[in-house]
Amino acid sequence: MVIRVKVNIPRSHPRYESLLLREKIVDAMIEGVVVPEGLIAHGRGECFDYLIGEKTRDFAIKAINAAAARLVLASYPVISVNGNTAALVADKIVELAHELNAPLEVNLFYYTRKRAEAIKKILEKYGADLVVGVDDRSKEIKGLEHERGKVSPRGIYRADVVLVALEDGDRTEALRRMGKTVIAIDLNPLSRTARKANITIVDNIVRALPLLVERVKTYKKKSREELARLLDFYNNEEVLREAIAYIARRLTKLSREYK
Ligand code: ATP
Repeated sequence: MVIRVKVNIPRSHPRYESLLLREKIVDAMIEGVVVPEGLIAHGRGECFDYLIGEKTRDFAIKAINAAAARLVLASYPVISVNGNTAALVADKIVELAHELNAPLEVNLFYYTRKRAEAIKKILEKYGADLVVGVDDRSKEIKGLEHERGKVSPRGIYRADVVLVALEDGDRTEALRRMGKTVIAIDLNPLSRTARKANITIVDNIVRALPLLVERVKTYKKKSREELARLLDFYNNEEVLREAIAYIARRLTKLSREYK
C-alpha cells in the first residue's frame, strides 16, 4: 500500500519547481500512469538536471533547433509517449503533435492495456486527435524482445522520424537499424539513448518541449532548403561532447569552492 502524504509546497521553497514535478510524477503513479520504476528514472533525470544547473544550455538549444527542422521536414513524424512524459508534459506533447500533424504512440516497457489506455485518456483530455499503440500493436521492431518492440502500423512502424523521451537505449538502436531518424530528449548525455540518437536534446523535457513547439511553429514558415541547410551544420557528437564538457567544467568550478 502506498501512503500518500500531501503537503502544501510553499512558492518560496528553493526547490519549488522540482518538488512540483515530483508531485506530478507521484500522483501519476497512484493513478496507474507511471510505474514505480518511472520514479527511479525521474530521479536519475533530476540528478543530471542538477549537474547542468537546471537550465536549458546552448548544447540543448542547438539540438532543439535541429530537432525542429528535422520534424518539419519529416514525411511521417511520430511522437512516442510513455508514462513519465504523459505525467509531466501531456499538454505540450499534444500541441507538438497538432503542429506536426503527427500521431502520438503510447509505447511502454512496462506495458499493460490498462496503463496504455490511461495514458491515451490523458492525451485525449488535452485534445489529441490520433493516439495509437494501445490496441493496434500488430507490428514488430526487430531485435526488441520486450513490450516496446510491439508497435502500431499507423505509428512508429511507419514513421521516418521518431521523437522519443526518457527512454531506454535499445529501442533507439533498433529504430536506427530500421533506418529511422531518432530524436531523443534525455538529461543524461551518457545514456545509450543519448549516444545512439541522431539528435539528442540534453535538457529537462519540461523545459525542452515548450521551446521545441515554438521552434517548430517558426520553422514551418521556412523553406525546405533552409531547414536542410540547418541540418547539414548539425553535429550530434559535438553536442554530446559539449554537454559532457559543460558538466565537467561546472563540477571543476564548484570543487574550487572547497579549496
Ligand atoms: P539507456 O538505456 O538509454 O542507457 P536508461 O537505462 O538510463 O537509458 P531509463 O532508466 O529508462 O534509461 O531512464 C530514463 C532516462 O530519462 C534517464 O537517462 C534520465 O536521465 C532521463 N530523464 C528522466 N527524467 C527526465 C526529464 N524530466 N527530462 C529529460 N530526461 C529525463
